[in-house]
Amino acid sequence: MTRERRTSIRIDLISDTAAQPTPAMRRAMAKAPTGDEQRGEDPSVNRLCERAADLLGKEAALFLPSGIMCNQVALAVHCRAGDEVLAASNAHVLQSEGAAVATITGALVTPIDAQRGMFQPGDLARSLRRRKLRAPRPRVACIEQTSNRGGGSVWPLAKLQGIADIAGANGLAMHLDGARLMNAVVASGVPARAFAAPFDSVWLGLTKGLGCPVGAVLAGDRDFIDAAWWWKHRLGGAMRQAGILAAAGLHALDHHVDRLEQDHGAARELARRLQSIPGIDIAPALVETNIVLFDLADERSGADDLADYLLGEGIRVGVESGRRLRAVTHLGIQPDDLVEVADSVERYMLDMSKPQG
Ligand SMILES: *Cc1c(COP(=O)(O)O)cnc(C)c1O
Repeated sequence: MTRERRTSIRIDLISDTAAQPTPAMRRAMAKAPTGDEQRGEDPSVNRLCERAADLLGKEAALFLPSGIMCNQVALAVHCRAGDEVLAASNAHVLQSEGAAVATITGALVTPIDAQRGMFQPGDLARSLRRRKLRAPRPRVACIEQTSNRGGGSVWPLAKLQGIADIAGANGLAMHLDGARLMNAVVASGVPARAFAAPFDSVWLGLTKGLGCPVGAVLAGDRDFIDAAWWWKHRLGGAMRQAGILAAAGLHALDHHVDRLEQDHGAARELARRLQSIPGIDIAPALVETNIVLFDLADERSGADDLADYLLGEGIRVGVESGRRLRAVTHLGIQPDDLVEVADSVERYMLDMSKPQG
């Protein structure tokens, strides 16, 4: 995509990462006290880590540049080469991290069939191999809250507990990918520490719905975080005056959590509008948070064609597959934008249904 084309995007629903840091967030960043993060001397980073550990009900936390690094550091601590990580087949850690688990830790990631990104405790039990010399050693069950490719679905607490029971009985650690954990918290009313409780390690993404420019916080018990520091440094994740970034996280925890409900409302509103358009298949009841998956109902058009048309109108959405598109709401999206998006989709679909010739 050319630079010109990108700057002409007015309504960006490609991901919640499209949210820009707000003026108030930038002011908080500019004022942040800083120090050498790698030496544990950055007061803003230390505050953010204490705050995140408390929010997640864990002993300690670690600031990292990205969510991918959180997943990779955590799995490197939990696993050795030849161990096995189990995750939903469409999980980010399996699909979207450049096979980092295989390259960094040397562990195998086994996919578990999932509906809307979620599997049942029994599915985990059935996926566990019998302990044999020739089998990989199952070590970690990895869960994404909310499920990204599952359409922002929220794992119910009881299901997480059921999975933790199976994991515990089989000596597996539990790891939570919390790129959108606060979306799950706001949508369900379940506190973050309750969602985090069944897990040995959990991270909180700052750059998705929370709207920060950089960063994520990984939490666990003291021994886990001590070991994680080693991997953070080893992977080049130790930073210097990172308090400027941590200040954005602290600001987001103060000001951008409750407002996630607006993003969820916007996603529901978009889903309702799309549902009324002939040729679009969508189940608004499945839109639990800020991700809207919708399908083209027939063969007349492909998802790429619709996405290209929308781009011409200054609207960017994601293409999931030949017929499926994805729109993600965030703090840069206004209610009027949704009307415009739905109107553009409707115009395109009407055009498609005219006799060609
Ligand atoms: C975005 C995302 C990540 C990676 O986070 P980054 O901060 O972009 O590295 C991991 N897991 C899920 C579910 C995500 O949506």
